[in-house]
Amino acid sequence: MHDPATLLATIEGRIDQTCRIANRPRGDVTLIAISKTQPAETITPLLKAGQRVFGENRVQEAQGKWPALRDQWPDTQLHLVGQLQSNKADDAVALFDAIHSFDRPSLVTALARAMDKAGRQVPCFVQVDIGAESQKGGCPIAELPALIAGAREADIPLAGLMCVPPFGIEPAPFFALLDKLAGDHGLPGRSMGMSGDFETAIMLGATHVRVGTALFGERD
Ligand SMILES: *Cc1c(COP(=O)(O)O)cnc(C)c1O
Repeated sequence: MHDPATLLATIEGRIDQTCRIANRPRGDVTLIAISKTQPAETITPLLKAGQRVFGENRVQEAQGKWPALRDQWPDTQLHLVGQLQSNKADDAVALFDAIHSFDRPSLVTALARAMDKAGRQVPCFVQVDIGAESQKGGCPIAELPALIAGAREADIPLAGLMCVPPFGIEPAPFFALLDKLAGDHGLPGRSMGMSGDFETAIMLGATHVRVGTALFGERD
């Protein structure tokens, strides 16, 4: 078992190399360290090693861990990558610097109101149900134009699109489709690629890769 700082250097090296092969500037790709289920003791070595962008999938868990860590490393950015309930919109907007799970019309109202109340604009990625697996969350592709239009009308800042491809199938076609959909809608961000496939995702245009296991080891 390697220590997190060593794993971080390895992942950074692989991202650098993939960006070179893809002829993309390294600055185009943000590594989000997915720290869900990890205690502060495991996260701290990555902060010490210079990692500053983290992702969590539960609002409540993040509320418990991150305020103290951010006191120590105030330039840390926190991204929400898990499903968001409308009644947690206020908490999510207060805590997170980006939301990757904006996926349905009820969140347009909830997020617009929360951002208005907090006086804080939080960039959102529209999560797309790229493999037509409704249980995973994500906006069906057919409903994407209406959701994007609704968000723009409500002044919700849209950063891009996000997807989690179906498990156990070659992900490249799904990444290519997300890239195309983002282009069609004039959105710059593509949040795609996890521990097992982030290099493929970068080759296909990922701007944000979400890596958990490869940095922290297997989750319980
Ligand atoms: C857990 C999670 C990840 C990280 O997955 P790994 O395979 O551990 O890298 C990425 N994205 C989302 C939405 C997740 O929930």
